[in-house]
Amino acid sequence: MSRAHPIEPYRIKTVEAIPVTTRAQRAEALVRAGYNTCLLRADEVTIDLFTDSGTNAMSDRQWSAMMLGDESYCGSSSFYRFEAAVQQYYGYPHVIPTHQGRAAENILAQCLIKPGHHVPGNMYFPSTRVHLERNGGIFHDVIIDEAHDPNSEHPFKGDVDLDKLRAMIEQVGPENIPLFWIHATVNMAGGQPISLANLAKVREVADQHGIPIILDAARAVENAWFIKQREPGQSDRSVADILHDLCALTDGATMSAKKDSFANIGGWLAVRDDALAEAARGLVVVYEGMHTYGGMAGRDMEAITQGIVESVQEHSIAARVGQVEYLGERLIEAGVPVVRPIGGHAIFLDAAAILSHVPREELPAQTLIAAIYLIAGVRGVERGAVSAGRDPSTGENRYPPLELVRLAIPRRTYTQSHMDAVADGIIDVYKERSQIAGGLTFVHEPKAMRFFQARFAPTADVLVR
Ligand SMILES: *Cc1c(COP(=O)(O)O)cnc(C)c1O
Repeated sequence: MSRAHPIEPYRIKTVEAIPVTTRAQRAEALVRAGYNTCLLRADEVTIDLFTDSGTNAMSDRQWSAMMLGDESYCGSSSFYRFEAAVQQYYGYPHVIPTHQGRAAENILAQCLIKPGHHVPGNMYFPSTRVHLERNGGIFHDVIIDEAHDPNSEHPFKGDVDLDKLRAMIEQVGPENIPLFWIHATVNMAGGQPISLANLAKVREVADQHGIPIILDAARAVENAWFIKQREPGQSDRSVADILHDLCALTDGATMSAKKDSFANIGGWLAVRDDALAEAARGLVVVYEGMHTYGGMAGRDMEAITQGIVESVQEHSIAARVGQVEYLGERLIEAGVPVVRPIGGHAIFLDAAAILSHVPREELPAQTLIAAIYLIAGVRGVERGAVSAGRDPSTGENRYPPLELVRLAIPRRTYTQSHMDAVADGIIDVYKERSQIAGGLTFVHEPKAMRFFQARFAPTADVLVR
């Protein structure tokens, strides 16, 4: 391969064996799992790209720090180290620990969102949207149109469309908007970044109406890296400085430390406003635990504290995003249709284009991940009609514009040879796509979050000829 790949800036001290399976074993596993990769057991998967959430490899320094975990119920010294790290790198004064990101969203949403409220955002994230809807809010997508086009090479597909934002404020009235919820990067758009320039304009609009901006900071370090690569005037700055600037334009953040911070569990909510912090600390006790541990063990806070420091190291973030890009570029060179540009944490395969002979009703993305598992032993996740579910009012299946398979890359977990194996496997599936005999159809369809538990059967007598 000619393509450059940044070296992994670490060497391996502990190894974890991965299952090596035969095609016959995988065929059997697929039938048992009802052709749903969510229902495969992890020990049936060779390279697991289901998610980058909590699947990170921790460093020796993180493991060492865990021994220093102070498990005191009140005032754990691990909390004060954790608080200082979030304050230093993200810049918010009030830091409230939570057991993971969605817990921070729950608390924030309960503090700010009332029935009849409207919340704009640059595309939705499933858990964010659920929390705002459960509190009676209505979500409005104000992301730029390019975000919905898999072939647009726009460098900042996470940007907010300011005209859509202003029109939305006019329509519902600023008094009914308790916050702007801004994601960096935008997962559902393919891990695409927002620019500092765009966020500064969003800040101006927010200031005109006195509305706070909350940042979903799960992958803000990856976003800062893209700003350094792509935004005019930013290339000489450190990722840590850019991260600080991103946060400085916002009033608070919700964080899943299972992403950028190299942890396996944990999260936080951080805000500038004293009264909001007090309200949030009141709720963290109800849902999570004391405001100095928030559902985490002291050792979990230690792992995050050290993970934050490592996350902004330039060679670390370069290798992280570079590894994802390497896999994406190999697929692009082979002509495999993917969402472009390549995002920070995942590759999104355009299943509707790859399996154009499989009708939408026969679930091309679900079919493609099943075939990829069968042929390559790689697990991805469906991001198409199965995930979109049914329209609650009509009961009809929703067919979103994008019918994708997501391959999320855990941080520091797999090597370049694993990426090559994934690329080779997917290129094989792509070349042999006409051998995929048909699609899949539901044989069991749960009502809520159907993609986790659904079972399918092939519409032809075999899945792959
Ligand atoms: C993972 C994630 C969350 C939710 O965090 P959990 O730690 O999984 O609860 C929220 N927003 C984004 C963008 C995420 O990726």
